[in-house]
Amino acid sequence: MIMDNNPWERAKAQLKKAASYLSLDELTIAKLLNLDRVVEVSMPIKMDDGKVKVFQGFRVQHSNVLGPYKGGLRYHSNVDMDEVKALALWMTMKNAVIDVPFGGAKGGIHIDPKKLSEKELEILTREFTRKIFPVIGPTLDIPAPDVNTNSKIMAWIVDEYGKIKGKEELAVVTGKPLDKGGAEGRIEATGLGGGYALQTILKNINKKPKDMTVAVQGFGNVGVFVAKYLKEAGFKIVALSDSKGGIYIEDGIEDISVIEQCKRDSGFLAGCYCVGSVCDLSNREKLGGKTISSAEVLELPVDIIVPAALENSITEENADKIKAKIILEMANGPTTLKADEILSEKGALIIPDILANSGGVAVSYFEWYQNMHNEKWSKEEVFAKLKKKMELAAENIYKTSLEYKVSLREAAYIVALKRIEKETKSSRN
Ligand code: NAD
Repeated sequence: MIMDNNPWERAKAQLKKAASYLSLDELTIAKLLNLDRVVEVSMPIKMDDGKVKVFQGFRVQHSNVLGPYKGGLRYHSNVDMDEVKALALWMTMKNAVIDVPFGGAKGGIHIDPKKLSEKELEILTREFTRKIFPVIGPTLDIPAPDVNTNSKIMAWIVDEYGKIKGKEELAVVTGKPLDKGGAEGRIEATGLGGGYALQTILKNINKKPKDMTVAVQGFGNVGVFVAKYLKEAGFKIVALSDSKGGIYIEDGIEDISVIEQCKRDSGFLAGCYCVGSVCDLSNREKLGGKTISSAEVLELPVDIIVPAALENSITEENADKIKAKIILEMANGPTTLKADEILSEKGALIIPDILANSGGVAVSYFEWYQNMHNEKWSKEEVFAKLKKKMELAAENIYKTSLEYKVSLREAAYIVALKRIEKETKSSRN
């Protein structure tokens, strides 16, 4: 029996199900159901108070059939290995779906970065780079930011890697600062890409964005930009939430940027009822607003919900309460298998994570490409290329879902597996 909340078991079950529609050879499937490598490292570090502490880090490499391993680095006190293994597998699938020449990986360090000083974080990141140096590189494995890591951390990795190598190699990581080889548009890419995927699918089912109502769970890098771009495209954003709660305004939220600023200033989204640039809880009544919990945001009477927070936010417990008919999975693995079944029975359309959030890695590929070829693209150029890639991938998945009479998730896996099979065959010949 599959443990429904275990992302690794779920990722393998999703892969097996899609593989059952294809006649893939046993070896290819077996390789994809297992990891290529898990590297674990220990890092003794002298802390600011002079004491020595030992930290554990790891890098999980799932598959490099399509190209160098690629995936984020997570700094978290509670990194679960099965979660990381699933995230690495999903990276392989995502890269195949969006058709970039990368494989899948994920990694991180067991820490609560908020408990370390900046100096300690830098020393630890540099030590981590030295420890994983043999398994990373521009044509080997290319890390990127993920939960609690950012462009500054990526810049330390580039610097340390360059010191060992004897020359700077910008393409060893993506998600770098703009003045250190980073790509224009990387910050917006995941949210914007999700918007393109959604609009492509809607076109196919003859639905127009205008006045479709949307509720977004999670107001971080992904949630903020997906809300902004969907609003720009004509959708009506009626609810936003973060881990502490959220806001619901039936008539639509006026300006996402003002709310972003309010949350930045107050550290708290749930009070951000904004009229013009004035944000205050006292505006709630004037706007006909309602304060909601982070869970409630998914249960509102809206057309589209966007889980953009963490894994397992839609489970057997709440799937039945979901009223939206379209789910845009911006987070990785937000829906458990059981919830997926319940939602399908209710006729909901799920735009799966490996398509919906693949815009991030698409632009990471653009960054890597520019670094490798010493090019610098404008933001307009990046967005135009991203749009093309997302639309092509979404079209392909939609057509595949009709051809095989399967869900968009199964179709996405089928598209990915076919690409992997093709590459496997041509590399054997
Ligand atoms: P983030 O840390 O910037 O933001 C996460 C947001 O989720 C925060 O606003 C947090 O308050 C909120 N949150 C946490 N728990 C919540 C809960 N229980 N209910 C409601 N909100 C909650 O992270 P991010 O970069 O925006 O990533 C979000 C998701 O998207 C993750 O699953 C990540 O793996 C996935 N993703 C991110 C990218 C990217 O480019 N950043 C790319 C692909 C996938």
